[in-house]
Amino acid sequence: MHPFDVPIFGAQRPELVQAVVDYARTRMSLDPVPLDGPSPPAELSARAGRTITPEGIGGLAALRVFDEVLSRACISADHPRNLAFIPAAPTRAAILFDLVVGASSIYGGSWLEGGGAVHAENEALRWLSDLVGFPPGAGGVFVQGGTVGNVSALVAARHAARARRAARGLPQPPRWRFLCGSEAHSSLRQAAEVMDVDLVVVPTGDDGRLTGGAVATALDELAGDGGVFAVVATAGSTQFGIVDDIRGVVDACRRHDVWVHVDGAYGLAGAAAASVRHLFDGIEETDSFIVDPHKWLFAPFDACALVYRDPAAARAAHAQQAGYLEVLDTPGAWNPSDYEVGLSRRARGLPFWFSLATYGTHAYGSAVERCLATARTAADHIRALPFVELVREPELSVVVFRRLGWPAESYHRWTERLLAEGLAFVTPTVHRQETVTRFAIVNPATTSEDIDLILATMA
Ligand SMILES: *Cc1c(COP(=O)(O)O)cnc(C)c1O
Repeated sequence: MHPFDVPIFGAQRPELVQAVVDYARTRMSLDPVPLDGPSPPAELSARAGRTITPEGIGGLAALRVFDEVLSRACISADHPRNLAFIPAAPTRAAILFDLVVGASSIYGGSWLEGGGAVHAENEALRWLSDLVGFPPGAGGVFVQGGTVGNVSALVAARHAARARRAARGLPQPPRWRFLCGSEAHSSLRQAAEVMDVDLVVVPTGDDGRLTGGAVATALDELAGDGGVFAVVATAGSTQFGIVDDIRGVVDACRRHDVWVHVDGAYGLAGAAAASVRHLFDGIEETDSFIVDPHKWLFAPFDACALVYRDPAAARAAHAQQAGYLEVLDTPGAWNPSDYEVGLSRRARGLPFWFSLATYGTHAYGSAVERCLATARTAADHIRALPFVELVREPELSVVVFRRLGWPAESYHRWTERLLAEGLAFVTPTVHRQETVTRFAIVNPATTSEDIDLILATMA
């Protein structure tokens, strides 16, 4: 008997299968998808009613609540005029395969249990490793997101630094610290907090780019107690898409034997695009990197690819030991949970793998290029309009600009109006105390007409 059919869970309901599959099919074929938008909590609660009851309300009723109330209170990340934060634009193949992963009950933490899935995930990690020029021995794991990826890499880096000092008979430093540039992502501060280490923000020039020179100066100043265990280079800042001087950072770190981690959660997808590949030069010599397929690699939430040059260093930090886990330690087995802070895991790299397998890697390069081209066109149109102005020239696919004469409240009102009208989702951001706005273009379906439609609302 299948667990579905244990009498405790009620009689079989073929109509529920049909209804859920139909819902998913319909959502996938909407073009465009509705943008939708948030509801005040009290209103949502009143409209949804009580859904968890001792007897259950039944699947069809619960699906109706989701369809008519709950889903409408969730903004569609894949709407072509959703350009806020970093949205998402999963391919049809990736979404379809997410359904398969959900239906398959695969434990993705170990080779023993999920080897077939892990093999496929590793193929996808291999493609990313090849894009950045990592050696054949490189490997890693798909984790939930960039935040977890960054902290996992930094824990591995600190573990390696500790072990190296111990092996040399050197004392451990009073405090561990890692460095990043001033445009780096907030998740690094979170990582420092979780790890109870110090985060040293290295000043960048006017262009926001962390340089090798600045890192070398900082490392020389801090070298005394050996407490610096890593430098994080950002490959595409979230705010502007700025790529740090990765080669310079690597050179500075090599002299001090310091781990270089690349946070490419959003921007490293650009390595698939010939027109910007050079921005990432030097990454082939770093120690680890992350890139989120759920950002600019057309996969559904949630998936971050975390890759180490030397996976053994990560294993030393992350492999959990327990009597009941010993059976997993067979030689040659790739246990994904050995490379991150978590243990149980969904095989969350599979939708990305299936999409890559379906469309081929050339399609990925073209899709990333298309987003870059749309961003360049957006910048051209902003330059040509009298009432808006670029804050910086875009480097990747993020375009930051100001509406001349608007105080902060005007941006906020404008954002709310566009969302209420179902036209677009574009949010304000703050740059050097000034409220401005930005387009983050990760959806190849976003057109220059979409951009013009939004810009026209600012006139
Ligand atoms: C989005 C982002 C993160 C965090 O990733 P999550 O998947 O949201 O946890 C980290 N670094 C950069 C540069 C990002 O853009």
